[in-house]
Amino acid sequence: MSTPPATIRLHELRFRPFLTEERIKQRVEELGKTLSERLGNEEVTFVVMLKGAYIFAADLMRASGLGGEVCFVRTSSYSGTESAGRVNLILAPEPDLIRDRDIVLVEDIVDSGLTMQAFLPILEDLGPRSITLVTLLHKPEAQRVDVPIDLVGFTIPTKFVVGYGLDYDGLGRQLPAIYQLDESY
Ligand code: 5GP
Repeated sequence: MSTPPATIRLHELRFRPFLTEERIKQRVEELGKTLSERLGNEEVTFVVMLKGAYIFAADLMRASGLGGEVCFVRTSSYSGTESAGRVNLILAPEPDLIRDRDIVLVEDIVDSGLTMQAFLPILEDLGPRSITLVTLLHKPEAQRVDVPIDLVGFTIPTKFVVGYGLDYDGLGRQLPAIYQLDESY
C-alpha cells in the first residue's frame, strides 16, 4: 500500500490524512466478524445508503461472510460541507428484500442523525425481522436526534471528511484512506 500524501486539495478546500487505509481495513474486518457472530448463518439483506456507503458496504459484506441480498437507498440532505437539515428519499428500498428479513443497514456517517431518524421508520414500515444499523463513522458531538446505532467503526470529531466512498461535491470518493478538512488554510 502506498504512502498517502501530506494534504490533498479538492475544489477550493484542503484535507489532511485522518484514517489510514490499514486502520480502516482492520476495523472493517472486526465489524464484519461481529456482524457474522450476531447474525450467524442467516440470509440477510444489506441496505446500503448511497452514495457514501457503497465502498464500506462492499468491504463489510465480504468481511462478514454473510450471504443474502443487497438493496440500495438514496437520500439527500447535504450541500457542500453542511447538512441541509431536510431529508428527501430519492431511491426507495425494494419491499420484497426487506419483509421478514434480517437487515444490515449500512451508513457511512451518522452526523446530525436526521437521515436515520427519517429513514428508519420507512424501513420499519416494510416489516423487517430485525435491523442492525452499522455506521463507519459517527460524529456524536454533531448529533441532534437519537439514533439506535448498533455498530460504529470510528467515533470522530465534528469535522468534514472525505475518502473511502465519501465525497466533497463529487470529488474524493476513490481515495482509499479518509481525510479531514484542514481549516488552517
Ligand atoms: P446526518 O443526516 O446524520 O446529518 O448526515 C448523514 C449523511 O450526511 C451521511 O450519510 C453523509 O452522506 C453526509 N455526511 C455527514 N457528514 C459528512 C462528512 O463529514 N463528509 C461527507 N462527505 N458526508 C457527510
